[in-house]
Order: sequence, then C-alpha cells, then structure tokens
Amino acid sequence: MSDSLSDCIFCKIAAGEFATDFVMETDLVVAFDDLSPQAPTHVLIVPRQHVSSIAHLTADDRDLIVEVTLVINRVARLRGIDATGYRVVTNSGADAGQTVSHLHWHLLGGAPMGPIA
Ligand code: AMP
Ligand code: ZN
Repeated sequence: MSDSLSDCIFCKIAAGEFATDFVMETDLVVAFDDLSPQAPTHVLIVPRQHVSSIAHLTADDRDLIVEVTLVINRVARLRGIDATGYRVVTNSGADAGQTVSHLHWHLLGGAPMGPIA
C-alpha cells in the first residue's frame, strides 16, 4: 500500500483532519457513518493507509483483511444489527460505481433490503 494521499478525502478523515466521530478505530482501520446513508445503519470501514480499491490488496495485506472483518462484526453488534442481519459491500472501479478511490467497505443494515443489483 502507498502512503496517504494529500488530496484523498478518506486519507484526511482517517488522519483525523475533520474531527470525524469514529464509530470504532483500530491501528489499521477507522469506521464512520456515511454522509449519505442508504440504510438506517450505513457505516464505512476504511483502512488508515491509502489503497485505491480491493483490487489492489495482496497477500501482504492479510492483517488488514482480517481486521476489517472483525471490525465489521463489532460495529454490527455496536449498532444492534448483528441479529437482524446486514450487508457488506465494497465497490471497485467504474462499473461498480466507486466514487471515492480509497478502499472502503459499506456496512448496511437496520431494515430489510432487496436483492443486490
Ligand atoms: P463508493 O461509491 O463505494 O465509492 O462510496 C463512497 C461513499 O462515501 C458514498 O456512500 C458517500 O456517501 C460516502 N462519502 C463521501 N464523502 C464522505 C464523507 N466526507 N464522509 C462520509 N462519507 C462520505
Ligand atoms: Zn486515501
């Protein structure tokens, strides 16, 4: 992974430049509410280090990948959606509609959802 990018909004958020209220933070990731929620619970899980998308993860990123999974499940419990269910999405590239080129996972829940796409 490369270092943080000075013009990347999620690098800035992860670095604490906007005093964002983190739902959870660890050495490797931060989690915060999406600005434009698409479900009653819509939290973004974001690596502190800049990486463009899941397509750029490698075997060297195993610790991050495990951490993200654990944080997602802990945030789901914190937000009380662990029993009712939740969806995890990461968009990679243009066809998926990725709008922020810093890897992130969407954690969505709190109401029944339709089928994906
Ligand atoms: P994606 O389309 O998968 O790249 O998702 C980007 C997400 O980031 C969208 O759901 C946006 O609403 C969200 N977003 C963009 N800027 C911010 C911000 N400053 N704080 C919180 N969420 C943001
Ligand atoms: Zn970044």
